[in-house]
Amino acid sequence: MLIDNIGTLVTNDPELGTLHDAAILFEDGKVAWVGTKIPQGTSGKRLDAGGRAVIPGFVDSHGHLVFAGDRAEEFAARMEGRPYTAGGIKTTVAATRAASTEALRANFDRLVAEALRSGTTTVETKSGYGLTVLDERRSLELAHPLQDRTFLGAHVVPPEHTADDYVHLVKGEMLDACAPHARWIDVFCEDGAFDGEQTRAILTAGIAKGLTPRVHANQLAHGPGVQIAVELGAASADHCTHTTDADVDALANSDTVATLLPGAEFSTRAQYPDARRLIDAGVTVALAADCNPGSSYTTNIPFCIAIAVREMRMTPDEAVRAATLGGAQALRRTDIGHLAPGARADAVVLEAPSHIHLAYRPGVPLVRSVFKDGRYMG
Ligand SMILES: [Zn+2]
Repeated sequence: MLIDNIGTLVTNDPELGTLHDAAILFEDGKVAWVGTKIPQGTSGKRLDAGGRAVIPGFVDSHGHLVFAGDRAEEFAARMEGRPYTAGGIKTTVAATRAASTEALRANFDRLVAEALRSGTTTVETKSGYGLTVLDERRSLELAHPLQDRTFLGAHVVPPEHTADDYVHLVKGEMLDACAPHARWIDVFCEDGAFDGEQTRAILTAGIAKGLTPRVHANQLAHGPGVQIAVELGAASADHCTHTTDADVDALANSDTVATLLPGAEFSTRAQYPDARRLIDAGVTVALAADCNPGSSYTTNIPFCIAIAVREMRMTPDEAVRAATLGGAQALRRTDIGHLAPGARADAVVLEAPSHIHLAYRPGVPLVRSVFKDGRYMG
């Protein structure tokens, strides 16, 4: 498949950069060639992009897609002035435990399909609404098609446990049951969830089982999450809303990506993280949707890009890059998030001449077609 007559082609490749009047060739699910002069002898299917933009598929590196029910009433109450706390998670835990595996899988599949329609070709998902050994393992197992699954038993302490007992369970029997079904381990390090000492103990146990950490850090208030993420070599510190200069320095001098989740601040009417400060300090930034029923019930990355540009002082170039290449970096993946030869042929054709329109035309459905592994998905 050759896509030609591309108005703007965002490759995220340091050598190729952003091309105009370009073409891209997909072969066997991968990018085979990118450029402006179509090689002689190119045959096969051809798609005329008509001057539209083509970008890498979005890499949504932070999601909570295995759950039952919703919390629309809680959202409405919050919009009337009630604050967001970590405690609301328990509502979804009760619904998730009560749901059949078939119902959970159907909801998960629905969300992955919804994300794909808005240009997301890779999603990560976490457990964290089961909080028993069996329910956590079930959450990870049913998300099996995904390469990036994260064990988040340490989402919140369920009501039937004391904090100490639960931490013991998470880093022992629950981790043993879940580690074979996950690539990552995560902890919600926050007041009302897990403190620094508990976070470090759980992540260290996960590392010993072959998992790589990522941390929900500094979302609702300043805390030790960012520093622990850097100290333990986490792939990503997620949220990073309340950070000190020392936190920003630590991130800048590490391989830990700062994953910003503006859907959460939007849906909780909270202060946005300062992306400009992080980028100017040299921190690698990713943008993700944080799809979950409590604090950010969206799968829509173009929406997050528009907020990041308007409210977090990112440029349109930076925001699109953070939602593609940045997401790939947060998942330590080199096969996605860019469109250079050898990359997976995951790409989006926009109903616009450039990627800038994603922020410039907020709320407009600009995703015209999506390719995953070189296949047309709609
Ligand atoms: Zn999250």
